[in-house]
Amino acid sequence: MLVGSNPASQIYVASKRKACEEVGFVSRSYDLPETTSEAELLELIDTLNADNTIDGILVQLPLPDPIDEAKVIAAIDPAKDVDGFHTTNVGRLWTGLDAPVPCTPYGCLLMLKETLGELKGKRALVLGRSNIVGKPMAALLLTEHCTVTIAHSRTEDLAERCREADILVAAVGRAEMVRGDWIKPGAAVIDVGINRVEAPEKGDGETRLVGDVAFDEAKRVAGFITPVPGGVGPMTIANLLRNTVVAACRQNGLPDPEI
Ligand code: NDP
Repeated sequence: MLVGSNPASQIYVASKRKACEEVGFVSRSYDLPETTSEAELLELIDTLNADNTIDGILVQLPLPDPIDEAKVIAAIDPAKDVDGFHTTNVGRLWTGLDAPVPCTPYGCLLMLKETLGELKGKRALVLGRSNIVGKPMAALLLTEHCTVTIAHSRTEDLAERCREADILVAAVGRAEMVRGDWIKPGAAVIDVGINRVEAPEKGDGETRLVGDVAFDEAKRVAGFITPVPGGVGPMTIANLLRNTVVAACRQNGLPDPEI
């Protein structure tokens, strides 16, 4: 469900719908006007919760004011919560129980494990404490036995804290904020940020996407680094599909797929 016309959300939702088509999911799209009321959205969620031909529900965030995001997320059946944002699933994640895990942090974790192997004992710094990226990322790294620090806008000596990290996950939404000299030599750097900046070199009024990390500086210091675009974004979509397949199997009495 997409409410309103946030340009970034429109791009994300279009990619998600395309990915669903590519893998053969039936994907129903609800493009709702900016004027949609909270009550209308909640009613649609109720209908989809009760529809046993629907296994996963995704409401693209952010929602326009004055819709209460927490109320909307709480209305989704936790079994169909393929984003892993429902408080039931958040609680399950933090208490070590099986749950759909938010797609972006899980994608970051898969890349870290694939690249570094064992994460046990590593110092991880998660820059950002949002419910959709920073906090679940920290929970996942903790589950992997990392020593985790969560930094945010009130953190003191931020550059110094970053330099201590073997694993640095940047999810702040500030273009190229993390500089090369904030990075420990050899560290694994995951750049979650997606920021649109002006690109006069491409022509008048042109823009380009950059991450939260100054890539050209950071790549000279880091052992591993994800690019923007093309790093975390595709992993997010892949995990959305994964969460949906798992949700479908569970709701239809099938064993979990091996993915
Ligand atoms: P939020 O705005 O919800 O959270 C940003 C976090 O960064 C907050 O915790 C904030 O701290 C912290 N922060 C902001 N400014 C600073 C600063 N100057 N110094 C230190 N910390 C700071 O963002 P999201 O977590 O939703 O997203 C983060 C980025 O990731 C965005 O660019 C977003 O577009 C991108 N994103 C990418 C996805 C992908 O698939 N690749 C998916 C989701 C998001 P405080 O809490 O103190 O305010």
